[in-house]
Amino acid sequence: MSELSQLILDRIRDVPDYPQPGVLFKDITPLLGDPVAMAAVVDELAGLAEVDKIVGIEARGFILAAPVAYRAAAGFVPVRKKGKLPAATLEESYDLEYGSATIEVHRDAFKPGDRVLIVDDVLATGGTARATIDLVERAGGHVVGIAVLMELAFLKGRERLPEVDLHSLVIV
Ligand code: 5GP
Repeated sequence: MSELSQLILDRIRDVPDYPQPGVLFKDITPLLGDPVAMAAVVDELAGLAEVDKIVGIEARGFILAAPVAYRAAAGFVPVRKKGKLPAATLEESYDLEYGSATIEVHRDAFKPGDRVLIVDDVLATGGTARATIDLVERAGGHVVGIAVLMELAFLKGRERLPEVDLHSLVIV
């Protein structure tokens, strides 16, 4: 395992039974609180690809994507839960274990062909990432990659994203 992967792994805390019984939640707040580890993460993510826009997925994705956009001299674009963005949006719905979710992006967030890197904290089933890729492409962006701090391999989210470069800083 690389030094960076170990740095991240040591700063992600397992919280049992959150948000519901039986779920082992990966809590990234210890990492966020460590300026040296965060700087290393942001530098790594900013160097992954030459892009015009960095997309952050609400809410923890925002915390990572905004400094990455600054570091990469790219624009930041928020993908938000339905009803949070003020101007005209496109939306994409996807299935959750129980029920469904809808995410939105502003219609004018991308220039046609903008190169886009999507950033989030954790890839679990891949449903959120899949919907975000489809939404960005419909909005005119060209997704060149998706980057996450941690991929939960046993949930096989990667299999839902066959056409994009998935960069996982830690795979567990
Ligand atoms: P998926 O759609 O891949 O099943 O779930 C990924 C989304 O849910 C991401 O936006 C991520 O923030 C959140 N998520 C799911 N499980 C966890 C977890 O254990 N820890 C954290 N920090 N986020 C999670």
